[in-house]
Amino acid sequence: MSAQRASRILNHTRIECEFVYVISSASDVYHIPADPEDRTLCGLSVAPIVINRPVKTSTLYLTENKPAGRRLCADCAEIEAVRQM
Ligand SMILES: [Zn+2]
Repeated sequence: MSAQRASRILNHTRIECEFVYVISSASDVYHIPADPEDRTLCGLSVAPIVINRPVKTSTLYLTENKPAGRRLCADCAEIEAVRQM
């Protein structure tokens, strides 16, 4: 798959979903994806995949499910707060 095609799919995903979150099973925090979604707001790299079921991976990936029992990453929260000002 070309990078351009992958990016089109990601853009499409962004339009389709109300909001996506970035999580991994290695940590109990969730992140907010930056734009483009290959990074979190706090600068971590994200796998360009959306997974809506629980998986065991230390890789950060996108999910449409609101992460229950996780708190928002402090760095992402700070950047998001500044963005909304
Ligand atoms: Zn973060």
